[in-house]
Amino acid sequence: MKKTHIAVIGAGAFGGWTALHLLERGAHVTLLDAWGPGNSRASSGGETRIMRCTYGPDQPYTELAAHSLKLWKRYERQWNRQFFHPDGVLWMLSSKDDAYERGSLAALRDAGVKFSELSTPQMKKRWPQINFSGVDWGILEPDSGYLEARASCQAVADVFIALGGVYRQLAVLPPSIDEPPLKELRLSDGTRLKADSYVFACGPWLGKLFPDILGSLIQATKQDIFFFGPPAGDSRFNDIQLPVWGDHGERFFYGIPGNFSRGFKVADDTRGAAFDPTSGERVVSEATLRRVRDYVEFRFPAMKDAPLIETRVCQYEQTSDSDFIVDRHPRMSNAWLLGGGSGHGFKHGPALGELAAELILKDKKPRKCWQLSRFSKEK
Ligand SMILES: Cc1cc2nc3c(=O)[nH]c(=O)nc-3n(C[C@H](O)[C@H](O)[C@H](O)COP(=O)(O)OP(=O)(O)OC[C@H]3O[C@@H](n4cnc5c(N)ncnc54)[C@H](O)[C@@H]3O)c2cc1C
Repeated sequence: MKKTHIAVIGAGAFGGWTALHLLERGAHVTLLDAWGPGNSRASSGGETRIMRCTYGPDQPYTELAAHSLKLWKRYERQWNRQFFHPDGVLWMLSSKDDAYERGSLAALRDAGVKFSELSTPQMKKRWPQINFSGVDWGILEPDSGYLEARASCQAVADVFIALGGVYRQLAVLPPSIDEPPLKELRLSDGTRLKADSYVFACGPWLGKLFPDILGSLIQATKQDIFFFGPPAGDSRFNDIQLPVWGDHGERFFYGIPGNFSRGFKVADDTRGAAFDPTSGERVVSEATLRRVRDYVEFRFPAMKDAPLIETRVCQYEQTSDSDFIVDRHPRMSNAWLLGGGSGHGFKHGPALGELAAELILKDKKPRKCWQLSRFSKEK
């Protein structure tokens, strides 16, 4: 019997894992990417991403993240590779504005995620290198940590190819939607590709491919990342002595210590200015650097004069509600749209890919909170 042929466009965390799950379920899959899996323009580029399950109340992501973590570990065992580093994740919280985290606790419990609530004296004792001023309590997820981003995207693509998937490094031109269903893709080398179904997992580029329906729904925002150099021989700021951390004060700062000896990674999660993922120059802003330096000096006083040793600029592919987009194209029933990771999508790659493969092959409906129809209420 002829296998169903599915073209997946985008080999980032969403597209790569979806392509692999489709292949594992018996489809013939062609994966295309303009610049390569986890490339430096992609949202899945860069070395590391946080794996955490604390997500506030009434949302699907705690359960999805917990399932994804199981899949990350299962594939690690299968491939004999390590992408997940279980250093724990510490949330530093002020009781003034902790509805999000307080609301997370029931979801963590329901999903069977291990966590402990910590008092400030407990945290001070355990991590004396942190100034806990303004912090009233904390949540520690001891089994969470960080993931290797770029490297795992490449590994997913490598396994996909080894298992018989077809990978092509080409750009897909915006599809013509005159006569549904979608019949073929036009590629940057002038050729065309025909498939039965198409999955567009183009991260911050999704709106460029479908300007009429997604142009205003996904905003690419500039996010600056900083790596500071700890004092020589000082291991207080690497992943042996510090967990991954998030600090939910007026702004949300987060960091991944150690980070393959590339420095103490710190970022401000506040959504930045609009950014073009293709042509944007990846230079951090002086204002954000100043803000991040002030924060580091306050929260990690021994890092006061730490030099900036590396920077990165990435972009979030932000939806207005930070929920993903997992849906069929409204006019082309054989085209699926997968994106809107909104600064938290990476960890979910294996679980979201599995879920997308099931939706596509079994003709199921996605969750309401990921459907495009939710945006029509906003118009
Ligand atoms: C600074 C930063 C920090 C983050 N931190 C975290 C975190 O700690 N934890 C977490 O879980 N998530 C985090 N995220 C979010 C997460 O990284 C993203 O949500 C996720 O990687 C998005 O994956 P994606 O596959 O949708 O997009 P992408 O990784 O951007 O992949 C899209 C791919 O499509 C390709 N493409 C685009 N257009 C075309 C075309 N026309 N033809 C062919 N190919 C095309 C691109 O080359 C790209 O490879 C962070 C993001 C950033 C930027």
